[in-house]
Amino acid sequence: ADRAKPDLPERFHLSAGETFLEPPCLEGSLGLAIKVDRVLCQERTEYQDLAIIEAGPLGRILLLDGNIQVSQFDEPAYHEMMVHVPMLSHPDPKRVLIIGGGDGGALREVLKHESVQEAHICEIDKRVVELSRRHLAELASGFDHPKTRLHIGDGFAFLAGHKEAFDLIIVDSSDPEGPAEGLFGPDFYRNLKQALRPGGIAVSQMESCHLYAPLISRIFEQIEGMFETSYYYTTMVATYLSGVIGFAFNSLGPDPLAPVDQKRLQALGELDYYNPTLHRAAFALPCRWLKLLPPE
Ligand code: SAM
Repeated sequence: ADRAKPDLPERFHLSAGETFLEPPCLEGSLGLAIKVDRVLCQERTEYQDLAIIEAGPLGRILLLDGNIQVSQFDEPAYHEMMVHVPMLSHPDPKRVLIIGGGDGGALREVLKHESVQEAHICEIDKRVVELSRRHLAELASGFDHPKTRLHIGDGFAFLAGHKEAFDLIIVDSSDPEGPAEGLFGPDFYRNLKQALRPGGIAVSQMESCHLYAPLISRIFEQIEGMFETSYYYTTMVATYLSGVIGFAFNSLGPDPLAPVDQKRLQALGELDYYNPTLHRAAFALPCRWLKLLPPE
């Protein structure tokens, strides 16, 4: 019942001039169509089907197993909200870990914060990093930064080897049907907590409540009481099916609804999507979604 998507076909072929259909959700009832102008690369990696295409005003798009991961059109709506909400909620994030995120978008945003001394990133699929560096250079710029430490491997195993090591952990994972499946279980959340320094924060990509209600409900039930506070917050991403995606915000202390430090915000330079009003508003949820989460 947790699987919002039917079994995925073996491969996803994309051709210039054709319309590609993302694997539909909600028992096949809702899908998203992309008009492909150009295919920049397409291959089966050790872990998944990977393609980078160009699609008119949407710009370049990274697809994994046929699902849109990132589009140049609206990636700031995802990356800025996934990164700046927890970074600006933490008083002094020095050591940051990103799990997944091989396109580099989250890393680019983390490196905008002056407090960061080390930005670790653990991505399972080296081809995502290599091909993003080649075809999505603007997103992947952070891989050459002196503060970046790139680890190629499974995020679950990486986390299990770290205790009280990070101020902030960002789980920028793909959907739970492929290599990311282990990043959505209770054992992973126990490891996540142990890997945080006192007062640390963990933010995980937590899908859309429209599409993944049973999964989201189950995870929040499993982690209830594990962290000092747990929240679900959202951002609007036009190129993700249902137009919205959420994050789990788990904190060992900091309150995400506290006022944002204006000096630290200004030091980030001009942003495309994030602002402090949106930061607060992102935690307001519709009644039907509140019912999926434990009462506050
Ligand atoms: N923004 C995206 C979304 O929500 O669809 C996620 C983007 S990012 C490209 C997701 C990355 O997580 C992929 O590159 C994938 O290879 C990586 N990933 C999946 N499972 C992983 C695991 N177990 N450990 C580390 N990285 C993993």
